[in-house]
Amino acid sequence: HCGFVAIVGRPNVGKSTLMNHLIGQKISITSKKAQTTRHRVTGIHTDDNAQFVFVDTPGFQTYHKGALNETLNKSVKDSLANVDCVLFLLEAMRFTAADREVMALLPKRTPVILVVNKLDKAKDKAALDAFIQTVKAEFPFASSEVVSAKHGQRLAELLEQVRPYL
Ligand code: GDP
Ligand code: MG
Repeated sequence: HCGFVAIVGRPNVGKSTLMNHLIGQKISITSKKAQTTRHRVTGIHTDDNAQFVFVDTPGFQTYHKGALNETLNKSVKDSLANVDCVLFLLEAMRFTAADREVMALLPKRTPVILVVNKLDKAKDKAALDAFIQTVKAEFPFASSEVVSAKHGQRLAELLEQVRPYL
């Protein structure tokens, strides 16, 4: 089994950090600054019976105008075409206008997994559950997972959620 998995979300949710951890290499630049990822970056995670081809994307945003931003946004839209599964990343306890803009681009025919990142920052479990329910009410996600990309928490579980779509 082999499939393409796009990682999308607004700037700074942790897309590149997730990609690097999933493939075990620092292939994509991570930073606190928005728009550090300026090109699609592809990395492969291979295990006994599958190859996951992850596509890290620039953070989609419309509040910055200009040619660079338009190129970045087009690149995000292109990445969503012809993949087998999409990971839509959010930061735990944060669901902003910028997140909703990305959500509006999500494909309807491809399975989209809601990935709530920065689990290490969310101390209140009940509040986190309520947060996830709120987000799930806005889009027909195939499933959801809570992870910490930085600390490598629950990434194996995330891979198991992706596996059926490869
Ligand atoms: P991107 O713009 O979505 O690609 O985000 P990056 O991967 O560049 O990460 C943005 C910032 O969030 C960096 O400072 C990361 O170290 C931080 N970050 C990413 N994942 C986590 C996490 O699980 N927990 C915490 N606390 N910080 C994280
Ligand atoms: Mg990035």
